[in-house]
Amino acid sequence: RSRVSARIAGITPSATLAVDAKAKALKAEGRPVIGFGAGQPDFPTPDYIVDAAAEATRERVNHGYTAAGGLPELREAIAEKTLRDSGFRCDPSQVLVTNGGKQAVYSAFATLVDPGDEVLLPAPYWTTYPESITLAGGVPVQVTADETTGYLVTVDQLEAARTDKTKVLLFNSPSNPTGAVYPREQVEAIGKWALEHGIWVITDEIYEHLVYDGITAASMPVVVPELADQTLILNGVAKTYSMTGWRVGWIIGPDDVVKAASSFQSHLCGNVSNVAQRAAQAAVAGPLDAVHSMREAFDARRKKIVSLLSDIPGVECPTPEGAFYAYPSVKALLGKEIRGERPEDTVALADLILREAEVAVVPGEAFGTPGYFRFSYALAEADLVEGVNRVANLLAEAR
Ligand code: PLP
Repeated sequence: RSRVSARIAGITPSATLAVDAKAKALKAEGRPVIGFGAGQPDFPTPDYIVDAAAEATRERVNHGYTAAGGLPELREAIAEKTLRDSGFRCDPSQVLVTNGGKQAVYSAFATLVDPGDEVLLPAPYWTTYPESITLAGGVPVQVTADETTGYLVTVDQLEAARTDKTKVLLFNSPSNPTGAVYPREQVEAIGKWALEHGIWVITDEIYEHLVYDGITAASMPVVVPELADQTLILNGVAKTYSMTGWRVGWIIGPDDVVKAASSFQSHLCGNVSNVAQRAAQAAVAGPLDAVHSMREAFDARRKKIVSLLSDIPGVECPTPEGAFYAYPSVKALLGKEIRGERPEDTVALADLILREAEVAVVPGEAFGTPGYFRFSYALAEADLVEGVNRVANLLAEAR
């Protein structure tokens, strides 16, 4: 018998973390690597949040176990924040606080999916989704969109992929890895389609505040209110407040499902760190000034990186409207000779770029769509310019 269970052995290690680790290892050797792999804002957590956490460490109540579903004050603050930010009204009892958005994803699929159930997964997708669906026994059914539609899937595509085993649609707008944001009408059309067919929606809204050009990201159960009883909203503090290391996320959903997910969590991990929860409470109950200044910085870099990437022959880069990623196609460069090598896929090309240009990018294979690179622009603008220039110089050698 094998030492590791088939279930766990079947998990692909996170490619985004792998690229980041490779880049860090090269950096540690003293090489001047520029990393576009990171999925986190490069700003410190705002002071008032850190101060709330420091204070919480000294309160006796935070030293013991608390309710598995989350601190009541935090659940209340999340319900209020959700109404403020997306217009979705819920009761604090409908909120389950999780160890980051990642655990919200795992718990959501574990709670909704039975073995054999199909989950419609628009691609390019965030690399954690298929793993969490598979671990729950579900079958990810990939529905792919490309740069010609701005990476947005249509109702027709979803309908073509629907079977009588379809239970859930995963929806992520703004998207990791493409930065695509669905227009309100398309959110409405997809929501109505899901409602009509009794399909659950898991909507990951973690990048809700990182949107540019004055657009907003519509929340599906707000646009289609009848859908609320078959929707789980996922969110967290990581991206909005530059709090990736604090590990606080949440699920909002109908009472019965949230109750079931809380019971699962009580056995899985008990409560999320109370100190981190108190930091999250200060974050969501506080102002959005910090995210607005982060957004300005990201916006300037977004414009810069899209213009630099678009100037590279063979690179096609739609303008992302949200998150902090650009997702250019490099399909035209595959199979060409660069420095005596002929990379046939984006894993090989990313490896060549890391070795020869000392720049780390994540290949599209990690997101279900070979032929693309994900560039995170959560890095200083000078590094961004230097990094893309190095890539451009190397790719200019393609013959
Ligand atoms: N959802 C999406 C789309 C993400 O990109 C991420 C992080 O990369 C998460 C959820 C989870 O974030 P965290 O677990 O740090 O809260």
